[in-house]
Amino acid sequence: MPTPSALGFTPGHLLGCVSGELGLREFLEAQGHELVVTSDKDGPDSVFERELPGAEVVISQPFWPAYLTAERIAKAPKLKLALTAGIGSDHVDLDAAIRAGVTVAEVTYSNSLSVAEHAVMQILTLVRNFLPAHEWVVNGGWNIADAASRSYDLEGMDVGVIGAGRIGQAVLRRLAPFGVRLHYFSPMRLPTDVEHELGTAFHPDAGSLARSVDVVSLHAPLHPQTYHLFDREMINSMRRGSYIVNTARAEITVRDDVVEALESGQLAGYAGDVWYPQPPETDHPWRSMPHQAMTPHVSGTTLSAQARYAAGTREVLEDFLAGRHIREAYLIVEGGELAGTGAKSYTAGAGVEAGRGA
Ligand code: NDP
Repeated sequence: MPTPSALGFTPGHLLGCVSGELGLREFLEAQGHELVVTSDKDGPDSVFERELPGAEVVISQPFWPAYLTAERIAKAPKLKLALTAGIGSDHVDLDAAIRAGVTVAEVTYSNSLSVAEHAVMQILTLVRNFLPAHEWVVNGGWNIADAASRSYDLEGMDVGVIGAGRIGQAVLRRLAPFGVRLHYFSPMRLPTDVEHELGTAFHPDAGSLARSVDVVSLHAPLHPQTYHLFDREMINSMRRGSYIVNTARAEITVRDDVVEALESGQLAGYAGDVWYPQPPETDHPWRSMPHQAMTPHVSGTTLSAQARYAAGTREVLEDFLAGRHIREAYLIVEGGELAGTGAKSYTAGAGVEAGRGA
């Protein structure tokens, strides 16, 4: 849990928005700092671009990020800290931050469980055919057969996660009581006692897992090994009528291959909260494809999560402004190299353009 000296907000209030200001204004202005809060951050005439030359700290959220590209970092000679209010700093060009000596930090753990709950909810939403059933009620119908015709119990299914880190493990733990057969693939195998506790089977690669499950939940980072991992070939290797839930990054799947598989019935459902680009165009095919339960990028920004990442943002700022070391777990880049959590979870010079799919 974050440990700031005080909170400038009431937990439960909307904080992750322009009016909420992460509860930071009083704290920062009392120390003589200027706080500019805006959602106008795209294009050369945006408030964000205009403020960059004088900015020493940029705070952004992954849900609708202010992309800190190499060009923008070059326009911000005073920038010392790029701080993510949440988890996931791939809207920051980490290589450019490393070169410019900018510290990058995020509020590790603040919303991992929030995302895990969302993934479990979306698995159930798809498998139980919740959304079409709900729509019959809203539209005045009582079409039991229509609502039930695509609805199954999750119990007894094979469910797998790709990436057994903070979120992936939390998903495994939450799914275990459902009486499913659990599977996972992650480069680093879990300790044997954890595998036994969860009753989860390890797979040596993503393809082996994909072929063995009815539901796959994606929780790996976007990097060259996961970019477009779930393409037509991988999806076609899955059992016919499988489900994919993706709360990791949109580009781990191939957009049009997902649509094609839903239309053909190879996939019975697709859900998630990550898109490319963000926000997606109004005619993005994932908005209208069949058998989906997509949400905007909200899984990690419940009011509960907002209280945690707002507190963590303040903790990082307190340390940064006082010249103290930022908590290791929050660090992504420091002193010109990946540091802390960044050294474990991110890849410098990875070749997947930073700022995509955040
Ligand atoms: P962690 O770093 O804790 O876990 C990521 C896991 O993925 C690690 O176990 C890692 O293994 C594994 N992994 C790395 N490469 C591969 C690969 N090629 N194939 C399969 N697994 C791999 O991250 P989190 O659990 O906190 O987050 C997971 C992802 O979820 C993030 O990368 C981010 O993209 C996304 N996210 C989404 C949010 C949302 O709001 N929707 C919020 C927060 C995160 P190893 O440790 O061995 O490298």
